[in-house]
Amino acid sequence: MKLRTFSGMRPTGKLHLGHMAGALSNWIKLQEDPGYDCFYGIVDWHAMMSDYANSSVIKGNCREVLLDWLAVGLDPEKSTIFVQSHVPEHAELSLALGMVTPLGWLQRNPTYKEQILNIQNKDLSTFGFLGYPVLMAADILLYRSSVVPVGEDQSAHLEITREIARRFNNFYGEVFPEPDILLTPTPKVPGTDGRKMSKSYGNSINIADTEKEMWNKLRTMMTDPARERKTDPGDPDKCPVWDIHKVFNHDEDEKADLASGCRTGSIGCVQCKKALKEHVVSMMSPIWERRAYYESRQETLDDILWNGADKARVVARETMDAVLEGIGFVP
Ligand code: SF4
Repeated sequence: MKLRTFSGMRPTGKLHLGHMAGALSNWIKLQEDPGYDCFYGIVDWHAMMSDYANSSVIKGNCREVLLDWLAVGLDPEKSTIFVQSHVPEHAELSLALGMVTPLGWLQRNPTYKEQILNIQNKDLSTFGFLGYPVLMAADILLYRSSVVPVGEDQSAHLEITREIARRFNNFYGEVFPEPDILLTPTPKVPGTDGRKMSKSYGNSINIADTEKEMWNKLRTMMTDPARERKTDPGDPDKCPVWDIHKVFNHDEDEKADLASGCRTGSIGCVQCKKALKEHVVSMMSPIWERRAYYESRQETLDDILWNGADKARVVARETMDAVLEGIGFVP
């Protein structure tokens, strides 16, 4: 019996190397593991929560996310890949779960409080934004997922899904398994300014960037601030470029030479960045090729999404039938 799992990404733009080294590489490992049945959704209703005033961008962003997913190796023959709004049961289950979710659980949600404080340029005081954990729970529970892969910093997010499942089951019988957390490694991939790589910080190196764009970003990337001159000794442990070396450069001998050159001031940062670029480019080359292949095949992309939605809907409808029966709506 395979373990079913659901994961999603909000279509808010192109994905970056942080996504690739973190969530996406974990998703691909699960996809290649015969013990898992993977559902991967581009969660466009979630994008509506923050982009409702500018919803025309969401469709194009879904396409970018799909291209990035296929480019890095998600395979529609092995995983069910779809857009959330193409499976209306996500919204239907969200409505049902919303009926039993206490308001206090949502108001106490730390991510909600943090986002309301941090995102100043959008009015997020909406019913939809407060209720996003309910929609997230619906996404996961709709596939009766046994496990959900999450990085350590996100494990709290899954707890509310488990609580909602428990509460629903208490009222209406054992409809949902309580999904377990599958803790997955998330390597540190800083952005060009040294902060966490994030589209909202404008510091990301995107999967879709060309070699030239990538080099321009790496070339100007922040390094150990102690190295003002090429001969100043530096400390790789204080350098965001080095964090990226650790993730994408697997040549241990070269890394040892570079680290020693940095510490003794015998190499410049440009040399170190050029070495990193070689590794990133050789890793990205097949990814760029796959992205270009799919980019010119709009019909193939449409087929992938509609076939994925068809497959997802079979499972989703079974769950919704059980939900409606549990509630007592089905005669
Ligand atoms: Fe960073 Fe490399 Fe420069 Fe050292 S030599 S500060 S590790 S970029």
